[in-house]
Amino acid sequence: MLNWLWELKWLSLVKVMQASVSFKWSELECKCGCKTRYVQDEAINKLQKLRDILQKPMIINSAARCPLHNVRVGGSPKSQHRSTKQSPSTAFDISLRGLTKEEVIKAAEFAGFKGVGVNYKSFVHVDNRKYSATW
Ligand SMILES: [Zn+2]
Ligand SMILES: [Zn+2]
Repeated sequence: MLNWLWELKWLSLVKVMQASVSFKWSELECKCGCKTRYVQDEAINKLQKLRDILQKPMIINSAARCPLHNVRVGGSPKSQHRSTKQSPSTAFDISLRGLTKEEVIKAAEFAGFKGVGVNYKSFVHVDNRKYSATW
């Protein structure tokens, strides 16, 4: 039983790994230390595009969050950061260290992110939701 579960987890990790070309797990997994790292493939592809467009070092403040950590940091229950096997995370908070808000927003649009949170001081939130939303 344990073996079977482990294998399932491993398979889903490999799937994500193949898509994430230049990202390290430490950049994408939950920051609480639990290493939850269910991230949607399509979102990772767009994040790769975003990094390619910027052509500058890009720091990700927050990506996947396990349900518990999502609650702890005050994330909404419907947060795109919330990461479970059934519903992988599609959101990334891009740090503004070394980047301007405008260039991150432009690049996010080019990369195809529909959810863009612009009203934060130290980062821009991008997510791969289906319908456009800016806040
Ligand atoms: Zn966690
Ligand atoms: Zn966010």
